[in-house]
Amino acid sequence: MQKRLIMGGSLLDVTLRRLAQELIENHGDFSDSALIGLQPRGTFLAQRLKAKLEEELGKEVGLGFLDITFYRDDFRRRERPLAANQTDIPFLLEGKKVVLVDDVLFTGRSVRAALDAMMAFGRPGKVELLTLANRRYGRDLPIEAHYTGKSFDTVRSQRIEVEWTEQGHDEDRVWLTD
Ligand code: 5GP
Ligand code: MG
Repeated sequence: MQKRLIMGGSLLDVTLRRLAQELIENHGDFSDSALIGLQPRGTFLAQRLKAKLEEELGKEVGLGFLDITFYRDDFRRRERPLAANQTDIPFLLEGKKVVLVDDVLFTGRSVRAALDAMMAFGRPGKVELLTLANRRYGRDLPIEAHYTGKSFDTVRSQRIEVEWTEQGHDEDRVWLTD
């Protein structure tokens, strides 16, 4: 197995700043907008973005977490049930502009499930998608991200690993393994 570093801490920080700026261009001060991180790994990215946005805007930005375990179309096909993460959306979705946040976009099935899961909480006015790592090939559904950290021409057998200091790593890093 080969493991290559594709983003280190400083590039990741620059990328997060740029994503925050793009979000501000489209969402202004976020008074009608909110971030929703997909459990489990999109939550780290969403929290980082929230911090960057708040630093920039000087006000609080809404953040929720969405668990899609029971909405996945392959849920019943797994041998062992997955442990469910938690959904926590501390604001009304009705009419809001929502930015779904996940670390990696690949087949698009997680995002499809997230749209389903979210509708149980209300009907947002608009939904966008932000991903740190866009795996360009292998999409099974017509889903693309509005905001992308970086795109990668990976093949199916490869894997992107995103590590955050919050998980105990000594630096934020993105790796490509094949
Ligand atoms: P999708 O549902 O689009 O196939 O995959 C996206 C979800 O699976 C994301 O929530 C992401 O965490 C995970 N995922 C898919 N491919 C990768 C990958 O190469 N690396 C990592 N870390 N997660 C992946
Ligand atoms: Mg995930």
